[in-house]
Amino acid sequence: MTSKLEKALARLVAAAKHLNIDTTILERLEFPQETTHARLTIRMDDGSLKSFRAWRCRYDDSRGPTKGGIRYHPSVTADEVETLAFLMTVKCAVMNLPLGGGKGGVQIDPRHLSKIELERLARGYVQNFAKVIGPNRDIPAPDVNTNAMTMAWMADEYASIVGERTPAVITGKPISLGGSLGRDDATARGGYYLLQFLAKGLGFTQGARAAIQGFGNAGSHMAQLLESAGYKVVAVSDSKGAIYCPAGLDIKKLNAAKERNGSVTKLAGSDGVSRIAAGELVSVECDLLVLAALEDMVHAGNAANVKAAIILELANSPITPEADEILKSKNIIVLPDILANAGGVAVSYFEWVQNRQGDYWAIEDIHARLKTMMEEEGAAILACAKDKNITLRSAAYVRALSRIVEAIEAKGT
Ligand code: GLU
Repeated sequence: MTSKLEKALARLVAAAKHLNIDTTILERLEFPQETTHARLTIRMDDGSLKSFRAWRCRYDDSRGPTKGGIRYHPSVTADEVETLAFLMTVKCAVMNLPLGGGKGGVQIDPRHLSKIELERLARGYVQNFAKVIGPNRDIPAPDVNTNAMTMAWMADEYASIVGERTPAVITGKPISLGGSLGRDDATARGGYYLLQFLAKGLGFTQGARAAIQGFGNAGSHMAQLLESAGYKVVAVSDSKGAIYCPAGLDIKKLNAAKERNGSVTKLAGSDGVSRIAAGELVSVECDLLVLAALEDMVHAGNAANVKAAIILELANSPITPEADEILKSKNIIVLPDILANAGGVAVSYFEWVQNRQGDYWAIEDIHARLKTMMEEEGAAILACAKDKNITLRSAAYVRALSRIVEAIEAKGT
């Protein structure tokens, strides 16, 4: 069976055809530089000990220290962590950040853990991977099911291991521990700036209807940003199900339902909101589909049902390569993950820079720098796509690969 990594690499190999590069460089990117596997054993509240599989992958550091989040999910595997670390390598290069790509994961369902058990898990992760990470080596951040609190525990544990405060070892921290303003909504905001910038050219107008799959950090912030820009959010989903309201959902109420009841589905039954099957979300009538959940959500089996004119990938790898082909044949434009969700790592990079300088930036500066980055890289990728008559995804891979190759070649033999 083809691994997730092999599937992801196929996109890079396809991009290489548009560049004149040495095949040995491509061979070198076929597998990660270093993947560390650990068994995390933590004390549970009832006194028992439980063990979990955990990984940290440093995929490639040709352009700088590796960077990428840590996710907690019951279905995380080594293959998934390596694939996501590969995507981070490409994403950092797309954004021209002086960073390589990494990723971490723990195979666990964090909903079954108490707060103190979660703290022991976060500290246990750092105890196991302290030798691999470091402010000049590999810099973790939040990802699926981890947040600023997780990063705080991890930064604190790292400080006690190395004997000094080292805020630049991890990003996405709380502001009081050296976190950056604007990191919390950065993934959504980056995607939003990109969308607004390309909107005119893509024939998008105010009042466009959006459907959002996933209502975690990225999806909920995106809902907020779209609503304030005049979009109508007609459908959203989370892990419990999906809801639909053709007149547009009230985002404040959605946030309240999520906060109070743990799911947006609790809004169904009033104000013209109806419940739909989670799988139906990608095929509702809308102009914009935002994918902000997990991998492989639009696949060969449902891509033909997508009605949106444009898809924004806020999650990592939410569309399979087979689905890419189907969407292309339907002229659906995909704003690809390695560009569209790069706002998160961009502001993580700002946080790392601020930590190293010991000088903290105003929110206006962060937003302005993020906006400029998204627009510049977005414009360059659009131009490359037009020039080579390829999709935005392929163009993003072409630009990233040429930057990675340049760094590898610059080092000499
Ligand atoms: N987990 C996020 C991503 O997949 C952010 C990574 C980071 O900030 O380093 O892009």
